[in-house]
Amino acid sequence: MDYQFMHPAEQIVQTINRIYRKQMTTTSGGNLSVKDSDGNIWITPSGIDKGALTPSDICLVKPDGTVEGKYKPSVELPFHKLVYKTRPDIKAVVHAHSPSLVAFSLIRKIPDTAIIPTARLVCGKVGIAGYEVPGSIELGKKIAAELKKGTDVVIMENHGVVTCGNDLFDAFMKFETLERCAKLDITSRLIGKANPLTDEQIELANEKGKVPLGEFIPAEISSKEKDIRTKMCTLIHRAYDQDLFSSTMGTFSERLGDDSFIITPYGKDRKLLEPQDLVRVDHGWREAGKRPSRSAILHKMIYETHPDINAVVVAQPTNILAFGITRTEIDSRTIPESYIKIRNLVRMPYGINISHPEEVAKTISAKSPVILIENDSIIAVGTTLIEAFDALEVVEFTANTIIHGGLIGKIVKITDEEVKTIDKAFGLD
Ligand SMILES: [Zn+2]
Repeated sequence: MDYQFMHPAEQIVQTINRIYRKQMTTTSGGNLSVKDSDGNIWITPSGIDKGALTPSDICLVKPDGTVEGKYKPSVELPFHKLVYKTRPDIKAVVHAHSPSLVAFSLIRKIPDTAIIPTARLVCGKVGIAGYEVPGSIELGKKIAAELKKGTDVVIMENHGVVTCGNDLFDAFMKFETLERCAKLDITSRLIGKANPLTDEQIELANEKGKVPLGEFIPAEISSKEKDIRTKMCTLIHRAYDQDLFSSTMGTFSERLGDDSFIITPYGKDRKLLEPQDLVRVDHGWREAGKRPSRSAILHKMIYETHPDINAVVVAQPTNILAFGITRTEIDSRTIPESYIKIRNLVRMPYGINISHPEEVAKTISAKSPVILIENDSIIAVGTTLIEAFDALEVVEFTANTIIHGGLIGKIVKITDEEVKTIDKAFGLD
């Protein structure tokens, strides 16, 4: 369902549910609002369980200040009002106490958005507002002062974050992206020093996907294609729920025929993706009216180079990406499962998937089914979609265990002799 056609109260409930279920706020912390075309402000109620909100619980604050609804509006209504007054272009506000951003608010610093390519583009310049008591006009004034500088995202000292957008999904995306940067920044520090991207490197990411694909109108949709679309959506939703994908980051594709595959669309909310949203790419043409993921060319090259590969997944999960951001070596010989699924994990430099996708396609294989692109993503392939998904899950799990193992002692790897025994037992030679 498209946010544009959802009632503001429904949008707020859906979004707060997402934020709460992903533990990006507590039941008492955080509030959301939407300003509609009549100037009404729809806002979350005060002191009501965020885990069980329904649209009828959302408060309506009319332009003349009268309030309608079962409950009192959020105690932070003053700052929401001031945000809309200060910046008439803002139509939605997300305020939350997410763990990694609150950690940054405690040290009164802004997370680095240059550690991954698209975060700066999504969040823009991030401001920081001095501490004030919650619910006060003073707090609103400090946030408004930052927004006047043109920023849409403000860290609140010793409190949380406010993100604003031209609709609620836009504000949510900025919030989710900045929380991700904060989490990546913190996780990276557990294993090394983060390497931020340069302006030129970030600019390179904008080049991605500029390769034009002509459009075609599919004559028919086979049963095989319908099956792929349905199963892929199930796995995309699972990847989102397990934090392997974010709302707009993460791509799956599966081979349909010799030179055709089904792929995730660009920029569409992964949480709400439906089979008809996926895009067929056929002999270098894309399905009419749809925009495939920006990595479509890479997927095409992988399928062309490897007739035995039938599925590709590209994702940005936190723990493995921290290895790419800090350029830290990672070895899959931790537990047999990790070695069997990941084999020889190859790390490639940032941007190679954009400038030389053929190099990535050549390097990936059954013996190296997982490639880590520095500061960018993990690419996993398989003979089936579930196999590629499993490789993605295992590599993120492995990175997690190495980070945590390293915090409590020295990690002992499986020896070369033991690896040979695994190779033999599982036919991996
Ligand atoms: Zn708060």
